[in-house]
Amino acid sequence: AKTDGRGVLRFFEQALDEAARQRRELELDLREAVAQGQFTLAFQPIFDLKADRIGGFEALLRWQHPTRGWLSPTEFIPVAEETGLIVPIGEWVMREACRTAIRWPEHVRIAVNVSALQFRSPGFQSVVLQALAASGLEPRRLEVEITESVFLDGEGPVVALLHRLRAMGVRIALDDFGTGYSSLSYLRSFPFDKIKIDRSFVIPVAEDKSAAAIVQAIIDLAAALKTDTTAEGVETEEQLAALRAQGCGTIQGYLFSRPVDAGAATTMLATPMHA
Ligand code: C2E
Ligand code: CA
Ligand code: CA
Ligand code: CA
Repeated sequence: AKTDGRGVLRFFEQALDEAARQRRELELDLREAVAQGQFTLAFQPIFDLKADRIGGFEALLRWQHPTRGWLSPTEFIPVAEETGLIVPIGEWVMREACRTAIRWPEHVRIAVNVSALQFRSPGFQSVVLQALAASGLEPRRLEVEITESVFLDGEGPVVALLHRLRAMGVRIALDDFGTGYSSLSYLRSFPFDKIKIDRSFVIPVAEDKSAAAIVQAIIDLAAALKTDTTAEGVETEEQLAALRAQGCGTIQGYLFSRPVDAGAATTMLATPMHA
């Protein structure tokens, strides 16, 4: 039988309309979400292997959608970025993260994810200043996590801003290290305080010789640059043992703890824990 080309085309048009409709709806919902207080932060501990204690937490955004329940940031952050809504959302994250961290012991840091669009938005530096001032948090306890995507539209202004933040005392981490195209060149542009080794290298680190060699090279490179390292997504004792043997400074992952709410994070700090 002859295929009905028109029918197929209509099917795809309808599918595209539906995707566009869902995206517009998500955008409208996102606009309301900040105002309605539908966001919360989860906190995942970052364990310091040398000090044998929790060195900090990473703040991770959570959204309780009024009808769809808890949505993962991977579902809504891309739309928040496309629409620019990541700027007010990110401002809320920065304030809430600093306000939570002030309750913790002074050696405990808070790491905040900042998307490229938010980082390059005109008010970003004053958002950081205001969040620190309003909470009373010391700048050295705040770590801003960026990915190399911040450099895509030109390095100059970004590097200048990184230096201004550093001059304020804020720490800068390079997130998802190894997943981009030219991570090594960015290490020359700016002296990062920390490199976060992406989970895709950590998963096979105990079994795969190439992965182990890459992780070892990143750790040695970071040490030579006097930069800290965190291995992300550590889930097994085997991965932990391999990373420890390689001299990795800090680890983060489900093995030690999943992201938890603010109350549980505070309780965790009051309980001695070992990795
Ligand atoms: P990311 O910055 O790389 O954060 C780490 C992600 O890995 C988190 O996912 C965390 O829950 C997850 N994770 C931690 N340990 C493990 C593990 O052992 N196994 C596995 N499978 N996963 C682990 P989450 O919370 O879903 O966040 C996903 C991404 O969304 C983040 O990746 C980050 O890129 C983005 N994101 C989260 N919160 C924010 C935020 O406040 N602002 C911005 N701009 N982006 C955010
Ligand atoms: Ca991160
Ligand atoms: Ca990461
Ligand atoms: Ca990631």
